[in-house]
Amino acid sequence: MTQASRFDYSVLEKAPRVPGKPRHKTREVRIGSVVIGGNNPIAVQSMTTTDTHDVAATVEQIRRLEEAGCELVRVTVPKPEDAHALTEIKKRIGIPLICDIHFDYKMALAALDHPIDKIRINPGNIGGPERFRQVVRKAKSRGIPMRIGVNAGSLERDLCDKYGFPCPPAMVESALRFIEMAEEEGYHDIVVSLKSSDVLVAIDAYRLYAQLADYPTHIGITEAGKPPYAVTKTAAGLAPLLLDGIGDTIRVSLLGDPVPEIAAAFDILQATQRRVRRPELIACPTCGRLAIDLERIVAELERRLDGRRLPVKISVLGCVVNGPGEAREADIGIAAGNGKGMIFRNGEIIRRVDESEIVDALMEEIARWEEENRYRLPAMVDAEGLGRRRLPVLPTPPASAS
Ligand code: SF4
Repeated sequence: MTQASRFDYSVLEKAPRVPGKPRHKTREVRIGSVVIGGNNPIAVQSMTTTDTHDVAATVEQIRRLEEAGCELVRVTVPKPEDAHALTEIKKRIGIPLICDIHFDYKMALAALDHPIDKIRINPGNIGGPERFRQVVRKAKSRGIPMRIGVNAGSLERDLCDKYGFPCPPAMVESALRFIEMAEEEGYHDIVVSLKSSDVLVAIDAYRLYAQLADYPTHIGITEAGKPPYAVTKTAAGLAPLLLDGIGDTIRVSLLGDPVPEIAAAFDILQATQRRVRRPELIACPTCGRLAIDLERIVAELERRLDGRRLPVKISVLGCVVNGPGEAREADIGIAAGNGKGMIFRNGEIIRRVDESEIVDALMEEIARWEEENRYRLPAMVDAEGLGRRRLPVLPTPPASAS
């Protein structure tokens, strides 16, 4: 008599075979030439570190951000001279310009006299509901969207008293009460952020918010500090949200020059498969079984593929232990053995080459893949998912005879 298993295998049969969750359904909000929310790609943004009124320095930094791929840029507007510089800055840059306002609602009103594309308000320090409403009315009359940017570090006192400390429910209540005030003014061009330097607080706050509202979210871990730890910390905070489908625009906040924030943001989007734009290289860590000079091969491949917008999955493994299996799950793969490489396409071995020819052979296969997919590529670049398209559709098991 067969003994019943202690595991409930039916859980596995009912589990989804294709991984991943859909995105949180949010409204679309237009920020100049970029639309966020809905099914639009998750936009990458950054913030300048210059004095905004130093137009030359601010424009120079924004141009470097643009070159790195930044899609939305924010500048701080703490003084009247910063507001006065906005028109000139806007004229000289190519991406939407966002103004960041703290403390002084008059600075928000002043910024809205210029051709800016979005304004960010911290509701916890803008001076109360009436001042917030004045900014909303002016933003509405100018057709400019607003981010209600809640920050755990500057939450309203009554909410801290009510909840005991700046915890996720307190942050979300802050956002919701200001959303309701904006809606009472007939204003819906809203983006929400719920930032904290504490990863756990930020994750719970955004998850709670997503249960309650559908305005798009700007996600980030504030004051993450200095790279490389800051990048790891940000990824630890944003990946769970992105995998849950939360987040419509992303900022990685790093101490220092903001340009490296852009590559880090795109890496997080690529790794979570929320926005795939470049080749995904799967490479093993190597070990004593290594049969080829994998580091050299991967470095050369990275060099040749640098800057290419090809959402192709390439696996490069150093021996036959996992090589063939990984190669089968990739679009193009290689498994090495005895100084040779077996090249796979769509799970089939198509050729064997000497180690010295591996990189050239992979590049030839990548070019062939690009040619075969040329009609699909525009829809694949910056879209979600990588590799899922290659998962086999399993046949339905035959009904058991009884
Ligand atoms: S694929 Fe082979 S060489 Fe690479 S880590 Fe695994 S066992 Fe080692």
